[in-house]
Amino acid sequence: MSASTLSYILLSLFLLLAPQTLSAQSYRSERYTCEKCEGRGMVACKKCKEAGTYDCKKCKGKGYKEKKGKREKCQHCDGSGILTCTDCNGNRTIICSQCNGQGKYEIRYCDKCDAKGYSICRRCHGKAFSYTTEYVKCRKCNGTNEVVCPVCKGNPKGPTECSRCKNRGKVTCKNCEHGMVREKIRHACPVCDGTGKEDCGYCGGKGRYKSYVHLIPD
Ligand SMILES: [Zn+2]
Ligand SMILES: [Zn+2]
Ligand SMILES: [Zn+2]
Ligand SMILES: [Zn+2]
Ligand SMILES: [Zn+2]
Ligand SMILES: [Zn+2]
Ligand SMILES: [Zn+2]
Repeated sequence: MSASTLSYILLSLFLLLAPQTLSAQSYRSERYTCEKCEGRGMVACKKCKEAGTYDCKKCKGKGYKEKKGKREKCQHCDGSGILTCTDCNGNRTIICSQCNGQGKYEIRYCDKCDAKGYSICRRCHGKAFSYTTEYVKCRKCNGTNEVVCPVCKGNPKGPTECSRCKNRGKVTCKNCEHGMVREKIRHACPVCDGTGKEDCGYCGGKGRYKSYVHLIPD
């Protein structure tokens, strides 16, 4: 498979559920010749292998059925043994589904998002995260608001009273207010859900889409 065929297939998949409208000023367009039908708009009928007809299955193409040694005309094919292909109506070819029989198609690229389908999130500027300031439990004192006395190392039973902790062995934690500290907490941006991107409002997040209609002949 060639690289262009592959990219075409990927593009087709991408465009499958694309919206059919973009406002006129917000896109540029390019026209392509349909790869599947090579611009003809028609492709070979697979059902009849381009024959236009196929053998009647009821009589296996004989046109009659054996019944008690007697030949009976096959009603299904009216005795002909062949049936006109219902997919192509005997025309051997069918309308190309890739271009809707146009032989070419147009791809419209959204100018507002550079055909990417998204823009950078305005809330987080693409960082995907936002911050809030919240009170959390102090890690130094584990929320107790007291830490071990740095002078007596929590062991005040010496010959003289520890002047720092008054023999309590503990002093008030300087790191926090009543055991709590304010901390910046990182969250996934709620606007873009942690992606850093916002769907483009002009193209519905598709970036580009395929159009068969409104093709002006060139
Ligand atoms: Zn038949
Ligand atoms: Zn056919
Ligand atoms: Zn085609
Ligand atoms: Zn767009
Ligand atoms: Zn503390
Ligand atoms: Zn002390
Ligand atoms: Zn965001």
